[in-house]
Amino acid sequence: MKPAPFDYVRPSHLGEATEILVKGQGSAIPISGGQSLMPMLSLRVASAETLVDISRLFELKTVEETSTGISYGAATTHAAIEDGKLPDPSRGLMHKVASGISYRAVRNFGTMGGSLALADPAADWPACLMALGALVTIVGPDGNRTVTVPELIEGPYTTILAPGEVITSIEVPRLPAEARWGYSKFARKSGAFANSLSVAVIGGGNKARVVIAGSSTSSSLLTDTASLLDRTPDATEDDLKTAIRDDLTKVDPNGDDYQHRSHAAIVLRAVQQARLP
Ligand SMILES: Cc1cc2nc3c(=O)[nH]c(=O)nc-3n(C[C@H](O)[C@H](O)[C@H](O)COP(=O)(O)OP(=O)(O)OC[C@H]3O[C@@H](n4cnc5c(N)ncnc54)[C@H](O)[C@@H]3O)c2cc1C
Repeated sequence: MKPAPFDYVRPSHLGEATEILVKGQGSAIPISGGQSLMPMLSLRVASAETLVDISRLFELKTVEETSTGISYGAATTHAAIEDGKLPDPSRGLMHKVASGISYRAVRNFGTMGGSLALADPAADWPACLMALGALVTIVGPDGNRTVTVPELIEGPYTTILAPGEVITSIEVPRLPAEARWGYSKFARKSGAFANSLSVAVIGGGNKARVVIAGSSTSSSLLTDTASLLDRTPDATEDDLKTAIRDDLTKVDPNGDDYQHRSHAAIVLRAVQQARLP
């Protein structure tokens, strides 16, 4: 199918972009890499009178070091992270995650900001950035606000973004040298969205963060599992399995047995990877 006709504009700065988006009152929407939006327009599950191309805005391309980590412009592509050309505060986790997103053609255009704004439950960046404790800056008609990933994402394909608001940057805190991470993804074929996806970040003096995501479950923090790891870093596999099962019952109450088994195995794998010496 082809999309319904739309206008296309490429503003030269962020202020101009938000002005057009606000004037459009929901009929004008931002497009970044277009890797999700274009198929959605073609399938007619999304519609727009005007696409506002934000992918080349200087304000969304800037990557800078802050006192606590790295701030990535929202239009940073998956490929830019994969290629290791940008500073990495995650000690390899972000490179690993970016490299496993779809195929190189998608990674060349798809952006971190677009992935967060879409909030696909099976997407990689929301889970990874949640586990890293990233902060997301949003600019809109009423000014700026900075939120955590759990505050941004309300559920599958649902965020707190209001019409006219644009994600401008994502600040990722620097992982301490002693911190360790684990990342595990189960997809039916290479390059496909995950059935189950988990990221665990532990140690280094920070509180542990363990995240599950997947086809039926928006990225969610597994708090029982994380506090078990904080209290008992060498918790037994049986204790971990119990904590993971309890967490999954809470964050995915409608998940079926197959889904819970798949999630539980992937979470355990991510946690065990993070605990490797
Ligand atoms: C075949 C295929 C396989 C894929 N597999 C995976 C996978 O395994 N894992 C994974 O994580 N992703 C996967 N993706 C999705 C891909 O990573 C997308 O690039 C990403 O989800 C969206 O980024 P984008 O920049 O292309 O956003 P777009 O498609 O341009 O936009 C997506 C949505 O976000 C909004 N938006 C975009 N940028 C902003 C912003 N800065 N502020 C506010 N709103 C914004 C748009 O209005 C739109 O609603 C896949 C895509 C394809 C086509």
